[in-house]
Amino acid sequence: MAGIYLHIPFCKQKCRYCDFVSFCNRMDVAEAYMACLIKEIEMRGKEFAGKTFDTVYFGGGTPSVIDPKYIYAAMRRIGECFTLSARPEVTIEMNPGTVSEQKIALYKRAGINRFSVGLQSAIDAQLADLGRVHTVRDYLYCTSLLKGENFSADVMIGIRGQTQDDLQKTIAVAAGSGAKHISMYALTPEDGTPIYTDYLNGELPDGDEVAALYEFGCARLAEAGYVRYEVSNFCQKGCESRHNLNYWRRGEYVGLGVSASSFFSERRLLNTTDLDEYIKCILSGFFPVIDCEDVGERDARFEYVMLGLRTVYGISAEAYRRRFGTDWRQDFADAYRKTRQYLAETGDVTRIKDEFLFVQNQILSEYAQ
Ligand code: SF4
Repeated sequence: MAGIYLHIPFCKQKCRYCDFVSFCNRMDVAEAYMACLIKEIEMRGKEFAGKTFDTVYFGGGTPSVIDPKYIYAAMRRIGECFTLSARPEVTIEMNPGTVSEQKIALYKRAGINRFSVGLQSAIDAQLADLGRVHTVRDYLYCTSLLKGENFSADVMIGIRGQTQDDLQKTIAVAAGSGAKHISMYALTPEDGTPIYTDYLNGELPDGDEVAALYEFGCARLAEAGYVRYEVSNFCQKGCESRHNLNYWRRGEYVGLGVSASSFFSERRLLNTTDLDEYIKCILSGFFPVIDCEDVGERDARFEYVMLGLRTVYGISAEAYRRRFGTDWRQDFADAYRKTRQYLAETGDVTRIKDEFLFVQNQILSEYAQ
């Protein structure tokens, strides 16, 4: 299984916590950018003749901020230049402040069958504090247009002043809107973003408070019928994100667009993060790659273990042996011994115990040594 990711780097306004490659004042180049993206689809497609892709993901930025005809055109070209599986999962990220009935209709005509909607909070004052362009009402309008569709809602924890009641309300709004999948992410105050100042001023919930919110959120999500399958991802039965599962299984993917990364044949590529350079490269007929790394055997094993342990599916010793020819517990004997108390073993499958999933980074750091 392999996936295709397309990065749409435009936003209406920059959220205060955002450090993604996204631009809120470059809509003037959206048409040129999308033409280059289509050219990159054609260039990369030639390299993957004979390979079947199971997922396509339009991420950003805010893919829903641009004219939907560009998404339609890109998706059509993907279908012409790549071989897709019989029933591919095709996702688009949407900001509720940027949608309309016409846009969603065209997305569906393009073959998009999964929608990822950023709710973040059901408290308008918190949305404003985060710098989001939408209100709770916008979210409800957006999801009313998605009735019966397969859509996911993003929910955030660790917002300034957020209480358990606020989180409960947010989860209730997400679940009540019909989301089949909910992602619950902790706000990360990245250096260089405006929210980092709030963090330095001690205005954000501390680690213990965020952990308590996470526990609380997990319980509310379980009550609402959402099963956790990765530390931050919960879904109704059969509604896992196939695209993200491919990343966590260390599957191959092709990334297209500014700042997109690719991974295939044990090689990792990174496109430039400079929008103008990206356009210039593509117009000159070059791949806009600024970094290329062949992943060595030791790193490949580590990535496999680290990604596998992030999910509730864990690592199968047999699957690891088939892939690498060895026993992962022997390859990582020291780390395995030190972390064993946090691991649950069923048959040949090892996973992190439920109660330790949120602190997996500390556990996984043992495997990096
Ligand atoms: S909508 Fe997403 S990509 Fe755009 S600024 Fe906000 S967090 Fe960043």
